[in-house]
Amino acid sequence: MPYLDSHCHLNDEKLIEDLDGVIQRAKEAGLKAVLVIGYDIDSSKKAIEIAHAFEGVYAAVGIHPENFEGLSFEALELIEEMAKDEKVVAIGEIGLDYHWYKEIEHRAKQKEWFIKQIDMANRLGLPCSIHARECLGDMFEILKAHPIKANAVLHCYSGSKEMLREFAKLGYYFGFDGPITYKNAVEPRECVKACPLDRILVETDSPYLAPVPFRGKTNEPKNIPHIVDKVAEIKETSVEEITKNVWNNFCTLFHVKP
Ligand SMILES: [Zn+2]
Repeated sequence: MPYLDSHCHLNDEKLIEDLDGVIQRAKEAGLKAVLVIGYDIDSSKKAIEIAHAFEGVYAAVGIHPENFEGLSFEALELIEEMAKDEKVVAIGEIGLDYHWYKEIEHRAKQKEWFIKQIDMANRLGLPCSIHARECLGDMFEILKAHPIKANAVLHCYSGSKEMLREFAKLGYYFGFDGPITYKNAVEPRECVKACPLDRILVETDSPYLAPVPFRGKTNEPKNIPHIVDKVAEIKETSVEEITKNVWNNFCTLFHVKP
């Protein structure tokens, strides 16, 4: 099975300048599907443009929890219009970030934006790509109270393996990235081990989180095989077994038939 990248930001200024090169290198590395994720209005627009310019490239649109300041909820009407584009396969990235935001008020607003975007995804019948950082208790409560009908992936999963099992019971998917290749990342590797094969996705989150041996450099989708190798090693199975499951999971979750 081919490789794929289920979460990256080719719409980021670090990658957008050399898009042809980035896509070419991804193809040479064996990738056949790439999902470009928006995080505000402008990046969502760009994600759609990029998706239309390349075969096998898809888009997600949404407002990230760090990016709603200065916006009114009318912004979501724009996002909803964009989400009707044929290349848009998900709402995202949306969610909660408690790492950078400690104030109760900001967190309450994050929840409000998140729930509104879940409602939007449910109106459109789209799955979600979820950003969840240091917030998994609240995330779990919200997803229980506001289920995402077309399902979701917890992108760059960074919780415990116990929480992973709880989210897996609700049917969610988990995205794993470069950090599983980092020397000190014991917990992310335990999570890979605990993650059912029919719930696992791989992603670069490029331009961030480059895997070893590129740690610290600008990340690109072409680096996905390094993450897949590590997943196969942790799960003590073949690369083929991982790519097959990841491919099926991606097509099932995002309703994509590449
Ligand atoms: Zn991201």
